Amino acid sequence: MTRVTVWNEFRHEREEERVREQYPEGIHGTIREFLAEAGFGVETATLDEPEHGLTEERLAETDVLLWWGHAAHDEVRDDVVDRVIERVLDGMGFLALHSAHYSKPFKRLLGTSCSLTWREAGERERLWVVEPGHPIADGLPESFTVPDAEMYGERFDIPAPDDLVLLSWFEGGEVFRSGCCYRRGAGKLFYFRPGHETYPIYRQAEVQRVIENAVRWAAPGGGPTPSFENRTEPLEALSDE
Ligand code: ZN
Repeated sequence: MTRVTVWNEFRHEREEERVREQYPEGIHGTIREFLAEAGFGVETATLDEPEHGLTEERLAETDVLLWWGHAAHDEVRDDVVDRVIERVLDGMGFLALHSAHYSKPFKRLLGTSCSLTWREAGERERLWVVEPGHPIADGLPESFTVPDAEMYGERFDIPAPDDLVLLSWFEGGEVFRSGCCYRRGAGKLFYFRPGHETYPIYRQAEVQRVIENAVRWAAPGGGPTPSFENRTEPLEALSDE
């Protein structure tokens, strides 16, 4: 069974009534529920737990880490970020959700500013599947809408994705690369844009389907562990000539 940890900053839900109304159990609680229903083993972790809930032990038992953060990216300890990045390079999957584009682990793994333009006006977003053969597109329609979304617009300052699965159009005219795949070391990364805290986006079937597919895709495979050493003894006999 794929073991998932859903990490959430978990501040908005505790501090703002309008967010608590959308996610009374916290964004991590909502995501945990639908991923558990899909058959994954799911734990949660939040910013204000010791070590942000991301101890060595927790990460060692995590195949795919989901990250939702917004207002307190700077409060995430750098030694915990180091630990997360080490696990990703070692093969752990990493899903950055919505405002996690500015999270420390995502920015460090990508190496760019990850900046974008935004507008909070409850406008319509249409997401197009632009790579229909990709595993993350499994079971999705050609396009689907999020009725009330916060707009994120290009330029999104990221490296060109290895695979771009979803492209968004917004009512106000902007477009955005909303489903981006990367590999870093042995790990797979997926950035997924929808998910603003004041809209019930994580309760939407298509959004849940993307996240479930992305967890399956990002889970580590059974490949070999590479050795990084001075290989003084060749595997095949070397010619004397
Ligand atoms: Zn937002």
